[in-house]
Amino acid sequence: MGDQIGRFAHNLFPGGVLVEAGPREHSDAVLETKKLMADPSVTAIFEAAFEHAGVRVRVDVLERLGSDSWGLREVKAASRLKSVYIEDVAIQCWVLEGGGTHLDSVELLHVNSGFERDHGDIAWDQFFCRIEIADEVSTFSEMLPPMVDEFLGVIAAGEPPEVEPSLHCRARHLCEYWDHCTRDKSDDWILRMPRLTRKQFDSLSDAGIARVVDIPEDFSLHSSQRHMCEAVRSGEDFVEHGLAEVLPGTGPPASYLDFETTNPAVPLYPGTRPFQNIPFQWSLHHDAGDARLVHCEFLAEATGDPRREFCETLLAALRDRDDPILVYSPFESRVLENLALSFTDLRDEIRMLRARLVDLLPIVRDCIYHVDFHGSFSIKSVAPALAPGFGYGDLDGVAEGGVAAAAFREIASGESNPEHVVRLREQLLAYCARDTLALVQVHRALRERISD
Ligand code: SF4
Repeated sequence: MGDQIGRFAHNLFPGGVLVEAGPREHSDAVLETKKLMADPSVTAIFEAAFEHAGVRVRVDVLERLGSDSWGLREVKAASRLKSVYIEDVAIQCWVLEGGGTHLDSVELLHVNSGFERDHGDIAWDQFFCRIEIADEVSTFSEMLPPMVDEFLGVIAAGEPPEVEPSLHCRARHLCEYWDHCTRDKSDDWILRMPRLTRKQFDSLSDAGIARVVDIPEDFSLHSSQRHMCEAVRSGEDFVEHGLAEVLPGTGPPASYLDFETTNPAVPLYPGTRPFQNIPFQWSLHHDAGDARLVHCEFLAEATGDPRREFCETLLAALRDRDDPILVYSPFESRVLENLALSFTDLRDEIRMLRARLVDLLPIVRDCIYHVDFHGSFSIKSVAPALAPGFGYGDLDGVAEGGVAAAAFREIASGESNPEHVVRLREQLLAYCARDTLALVQVHRALRERISD
């Protein structure tokens, strides 16, 4: 999405020229950039390349402001300024100014979340917000030289530095090296505990405790952490007595529902805004109580706004029943409420359907722990642990919500060949159906636990 938004931002700089040399042709890209900077007819350079003191950068847009005056423009597929962007831009400015390029302005271009698409072409000057961030960037100017020295030292050492994986690995988002760096950690390593706080981590680390099994009985823990401790110590599932009280009201008969949505930065349909959640697929399994499952589903054609058809097909599938509809998170409830606000004529019926939703996630989180959860209550951890043999490993291509959203955007773009679209649709249908089957499996496993 970031690449796509970067290309759309080019529309704001008529007369701009793209540096053709790719990321692994940096020297060529630097030469190309120099030539374009020397040509006064070039108003802006896209993907401008620079190198200074061993640091290489590519600048999204370098805008010519005067004969020896430039503006650096960083483009982000985000709806607001984040501190990490300042660091990103600061290193670019340091490289450019270190090499003698005079910057008179530094801007961040981000998506205007209030923009609403109409029926015509997108007005890119309204779609993007441009904010001057030169002052924020300048606060890094003294910090950068020692940081760069340190990073270059790490690279020169040839071996990765010895850094213990810790809370910093997921400070902004989970580091992509997480599986690699934690491959030798035990299943009950304290960082695998759900809801671990900094205070708890520091106290346990100071006491030399790295495994859940070694946590003292009197250490203050959240209930889900306590459940993990008990399961790890006993080697058996932890099942809270309360499970027997909450489960009987959940059926069967019961329905099991899952949605897939996409939130494109550039709105796909008139009347929608950047990053607005667009539901495009649902899967529904129904268990009438005789252990036979009936499945139905909807996947939009992607030729127009799918929300109305999504609603109408879902309401039709559930209208003639009043059984509980099991979901796994508040997500489906939020999507339905947004649809109720969008389609006033369907509002009452959507809200009646919404009132039937039963969220299994808090029931699982509060009432059960299996050692194979490894600290995660995601359906993809819980279902295979509670229902051995069940999993997602055999799915081809789409096996995760973000990938499903990207697959639908690809279909909606109209740029893929028909065979590929057919494959993507098959993958989407298989994935969403697997998610509702996971719910069925989890519900069955919970019911077995209370009948045991
Ligand atoms: S997971 Fe990432 S942040 Fe954590 S130690 Fe490994 S490389 Fe560093």
